[in-house]
Amino acid sequence: MNKIALSLIGFAIAVSAFYGFQTDSVDNPNLYLDASQPVHKRVKNLMKQMTLEEKVAQMCQYVGLDHMKKAEKNLSKEELLHNDANGFYPGLHHTDIAKWTEEGKIGSFLHVLDVKEANYLQSLAQKSRLKIPLLIGIDAIHGNGLYHGATLYPTPITMAASFDPEMVRTIMQQTAKEMRATGSHWAFTPNLDVARDARWGRVGETFGEDPLLVSDLGVASIEGLQQGDFTGDQKVVACIKHLIAGSEPANGLNAAPMDISERTLREVFLPPYKAAIKAGAFTIMAAHNELNGVPCHQSKWLMQDIMRKEFGFDGFIVSDWLDIERIHKVHRTAANMDEAFHSSVNAGMDMHMHGPLFLESIVKAVKEGKVSEKRVDLACSKILEVKFRLGLFENPFVDEAAAEEVLMNETHRATALEAARKGIVLVKNKNNFLPLNGKKYKNILVTGPNANNQSLNGDWSSPQPEDNVITPFEGLQMIAPKDVNLEYFNSGELIKKIKDTDIAKAAAIAKEKDLVILFVGENSMRHQWPQKTNGENKGRANIDLSGKQLNLVKAIHATGTPVVVVLISGRPLSTPWIDENIPAVLNAWEPGNFGGQAIAEILYGQVNPSGKLPISIPRSVGQIQTIYNHKPSQYFHKYTFEKSGPLYEFGYGLSYTRFEYSDLKIANNQITADGKTTVSITVKNTGGMDGEEVVQLYINDNYSSVTRPVKELKNYRRIYLKKGESKTLTFEIRPEHLAFYDADMNYGVEAGEFTIMVGSSSRDKDLQTVQLTVK
Ligand code: BGC
Repeated sequence: MNKIALSLIGFAIAVSAFYGFQTDSVDNPNLYLDASQPVHKRVKNLMKQMTLEEKVAQMCQYVGLDHMKKAEKNLSKEELLHNDANGFYPGLHHTDIAKWTEEGKIGSFLHVLDVKEANYLQSLAQKSRLKIPLLIGIDAIHGNGLYHGATLYPTPITMAASFDPEMVRTIMQQTAKEMRATGSHWAFTPNLDVARDARWGRVGETFGEDPLLVSDLGVASIEGLQQGDFTGDQKVVACIKHLIAGSEPANGLNAAPMDISERTLREVFLPPYKAAIKAGAFTIMAAHNELNGVPCHQSKWLMQDIMRKEFGFDGFIVSDWLDIERIHKVHRTAANMDEAFHSSVNAGMDMHMHGPLFLESIVKAVKEGKVSEKRVDLACSKILEVKFRLGLFENPFVDEAAAEEVLMNETHRATALEAARKGIVLVKNKNNFLPLNGKKYKNILVTGPNANNQSLNGDWSSPQPEDNVITPFEGLQMIAPKDVNLEYFNSGELIKKIKDTDIAKAAAIAKEKDLVILFVGENSMRHQWPQKTNGENKGRANIDLSGKQLNLVKAIHATGTPVVVVLISGRPLSTPWIDENIPAVLNAWEPGNFGGQAIAEILYGQVNPSGKLPISIPRSVGQIQTIYNHKPSQYFHKYTFEKSGPLYEFGYGLSYTRFEYSDLKIANNQITADGKTTVSITVKNTGGMDGEEVVQLYINDNYSSVTRPVKELKNYRRIYLKKGESKTLTFEIRPEHLAFYDADMNYGVEAGEFTIMVGSSSRDKDLQTVQLTVK
């Protein structure tokens, strides 16, 4: 037995003592079916009746049958053999998977995209010996977006721009309802990756670059999805992912290696996990990447030492898509597939996403003593615990007719619209070019690749019914005053294929107009995989507008007709030319089903923009890494040809009104290392419109024994102020806001001076400061 297996036994024995599998005989074989019994007794009773194969089967996940049927129909023989991006299993037919479900050889499915299929699969599982229901997981990261007809909320990066945890909690609670109504129980979200490289295609799935914001919105997501104990039929189990640090890969490409100091890991990437586990996150997904030479799927240090022992994680860990296989095939730290499977399970992996071979391999490994049965017991018991808590043993089926009433109901629509309004960021507005209401622009051209399609739904969405989505052009048709003539010109929706002739046509039409509203950005639609420019597995080697989009902007600008640019994109785009030449720029991120309406309302001043950037926007790809919480020496020297700061800073975003900050006060400017104090600030809306503002508080340790970031976000609050109104806000400063890891990696507060900064963005000029002394 290897070292990893040995060290896990102690932990597994403790779990086994609680559940007490194996030893006692089963007096009442039906006890586990009795809902009045406590969950741990039901787990214990059931597990005593399970064979080793049945226990390992709970650790096995497969893709939904329709997924397989599609692959069987659409892929060539060659692709079926070698492509691992689709759900199918070489040599197996979907009917084999159905049969295995009946035989109790499968514990979980993912991506079941039809409520009928969910019920069908559960009916198969009900034929198995012990009638253990299936746990069905899906990537419902901003609504149950892969499901046709679900509410598509703004993507996580857009939610993050709202700095509004309460709103995220509501979105996730509604998502849980839509998931349960359609037969899924397990959301592969929140994504806790701290995004520090804009080349990486998955920035849109994250809550941005700041560890506190990622933690807060991660916790809010878990609270919304799980609502405490995730019991009953309205809640789902959350999955925090991807453990860990895949969001700053070596070259910007998804799954590329990550080499990182323990300091950065503990200060940047781990805090969201700690917070999420404290909030009750019950499942974790491992990351594709290796960390400091060890594939995350094989890392006992991450899965056991940090997650379970240090952070107290008490749920189960699932692999990412075929990543256990990649321990052998890609990372080459296992000489064959069996070794990949058992080394991963020994390191702490509890469920295999997805496909065959795993079950037989782990059963064999247990029989040969390479994996302990206790290790399997731990995994199985946690998976069963989830199924009991979710109430699946009482009723694994859903009412197919009722799903219609839940999906996109009035309340969910209203939340999605409100979330879009809050997440859109106005980054440029020269001479109050916006809003457009009351201005002279009567003949308007609406064009650009993202003007009239579903790119605003971002990644992890399927094509949605047209009636469910308000595209930007449709939004403008709804909102623009009656005397405005809007013309849409399709300049080419496929970003990679924009034609010069269409650019020329767009410019010719633009010349005749009073104004052009131009929608450019990225395409994250996974159903158009070859055309996608952003999203999963779509890393980029630069972060300019892709394809010929900038040519389109320049050609239209050259006509002399004024232009408003709206970016629809899941990643930061470096657009210095646009910033210099275009009077108004709206960064709408990926605002979801009602994004078109929200954008139009902002353009026409019905809604005052209030989003703030949750990630810095670099001027060019060469500036990566650009983060606001950088170390003091970052800009000691300058670039030869380029400005050194970002194009737009973290926390930045304009409003149609003005917020004035005054009277920053500290209650006690001398505290001890374990002491507390408060700071207060008054914010007044001195402009001409009611509006919302995100007040941000940053801290810097002026001198410290190891280098510290120039500033770190420690608190924030979104407030609403009517014009003329003012509010005084108070923030507490506690030891954890001042603490860090010293040279010996001891965590604590050092004596000295700290600068407390409060204001409207992370830019120095937007912040007021006060000093605090720690004695
Ligand atoms: C992604 C995960 C996702 C999983 C299942 C993987 O490729 O990395 O984030 O949850 O697929 O769809």
